[in-house]
Amino acid sequence: FSAAPAAAAAATEEPIQPPVDVKYTKLLINGNFVDAASGKTFPTVDPRTGEVIARVAEGDAEDIDRAVVAARRAFDEGPWPRMTAYERCRVLLRFADLIEQHAEEIAALETWDGGKTLDQTSETEVPMVARYMRYYAGWADKIHGLVVPADGRHHVQVLHEPIGVAGQIIPWNFPLLMFAWKVGPALACGNAVVLKTAEQTPLSALFVSSLLHEAGLPEGVLNVVSGFGPTAGAALSSHMGVDKLAFTGSTGTGKIVLELAARSNLKPVTLELGGKSPFIVMDDADVDQAVELAHRALFFNQGQCCCAGSRTFVHERIYDEFVEKAKARALQRVVGDPFRRGVEQGPQIDAEQFKKILRYVKSGVDSGATLVAGGDRVGSRGFYIQPTVFADVEDETKIAQDEIFGPVQSILKFSTVEEVVRRANATPYGLAAGVFTRSLDAANTMARALRVGTVWVNCYDVFDAAIPFGGYKMSGVGREKGFYSLRNYLQTKAVVTPIKDAAWL
Ligand code: NAD
Repeated sequence: FSAAPAAAAAATEEPIQPPVDVKYTKLLINGNFVDAASGKTFPTVDPRTGEVIARVAEGDAEDIDRAVVAARRAFDEGPWPRMTAYERCRVLLRFADLIEQHAEEIAALETWDGGKTLDQTSETEVPMVARYMRYYAGWADKIHGLVVPADGRHHVQVLHEPIGVAGQIIPWNFPLLMFAWKVGPALACGNAVVLKTAEQTPLSALFVSSLLHEAGLPEGVLNVVSGFGPTAGAALSSHMGVDKLAFTGSTGTGKIVLELAARSNLKPVTLELGGKSPFIVMDDADVDQAVELAHRALFFNQGQCCCAGSRTFVHERIYDEFVEKAKARALQRVVGDPFRRGVEQGPQIDAEQFKKILRYVKSGVDSGATLVAGGDRVGSRGFYIQPTVFADVEDETKIAQDEIFGPVQSILKFSTVEEVVRRANATPYGLAAGVFTRSLDAANTMARALRVGTVWVNCYDVFDAAIPFGGYKMSGVGREKGFYSLRNYLQTKAVVTPIKDAAWL
């Protein structure tokens, strides 16, 4: 491992004992933790070693049905949609407090199950979950409808009502944050939920769901089914008792769930899908700053981000200097046990992703791109990969086109704003983009011309509960977070009443 000797040493040490126990491994249905109807379980694996952390109840179509029946009852007959919005708000606020009280345990569980660094889960992700919950708690009593003047002879109330039972399917790269993005707005609006977690990372959602009940959530309002996509996920997508579906994951699976929803009861679907986001560095940029930001934009979360800045476009005038510095930064990146403080990069999620990423590295080499850093695994155990940098990448190659979802940076050269915008837009995706420049004019032009849901100017990966997030083109349908998320979980009803006498005397 000549390219990253420090990294190799860190990743071959004995794994640190996680400071947490696994308390919840069963399905959460109607307020109780229960076995799968089939009695089946599946292993969830520690990405640091490939060893089994725990066996988890494996929900399938029958369990999804039980969960939907419970959610239906909670919505159709239970107190949750009928209580005042202020009472719902207070449950979510208590939940946020409980998240903070159990922050260390939750962060450790998330690190253990997903290989994310403890620095990241404890300092960013768990606090953000509390922040999202408080944000949506605040909306609960502010989403009432409005009165429309109409024709002067009718009094028209436009009511915002909860949509009903929401089915939600989340991925493994941000299990807790995806829980918060989906469950927060759904509950704030008064809905019931059936959540299917990713098979790689079932543990943290079960833990925080127990806290949500401690905070006062009535039984049946949130049901959590661990299980696989083609069984549990497909059953949820096609269930006739589900009124709305929200999905985050790959574009391929997004198409499947959309089709299942259309073929069953035509439930509305929101999709957060993949990306191949450009990070554009102009020639007036401070190169050191640009290198650091481009590095973080790609390598954050082991490169496993839908919005990873995975095509680093660099202006030809600063290209050589940028590549040298990007290489140096990648070689410095601290890879190792994610429980160790100061580690920047843990293992990839599982053997499948690990192998897929290494196949992409090979394809990059075969395509003629220059491998300037990394390119191999780290150590011989678990799913660690060296921070990898390719230079001289051509647009039509697989590493420039496909979502690699790993620590592989591709650097491409450009010469004009028009050219880079055209090339940046030339993918089926449109999730996000980064623009790094001192020129306000160049930033404004690119921000408008890039066909993506988020443009970060001189920053990247800035997330806040209030900022809408979602994709253009095949990166998704609809928006999550912010006010926009609430629209996904509300029905609009017009109540029209004649005004007997004239509206004005
Ligand atoms: P995936 O799309 O297969 O899985 C996401 C979720 O969908 C999981 O909960 C999974 O169980 C479920 N699912 C899978 N098949 C399903 C089906 N037929 N019906 C209903 N639900 C189904 O993604 P993955 O296998 O976890 O990762 C593969 C690729 O997806 C990654 O390499 C990456 O490119 C992409 N991905 C994107 C995101 C994102 O945030 N946009 C997140 C994770 C993965």
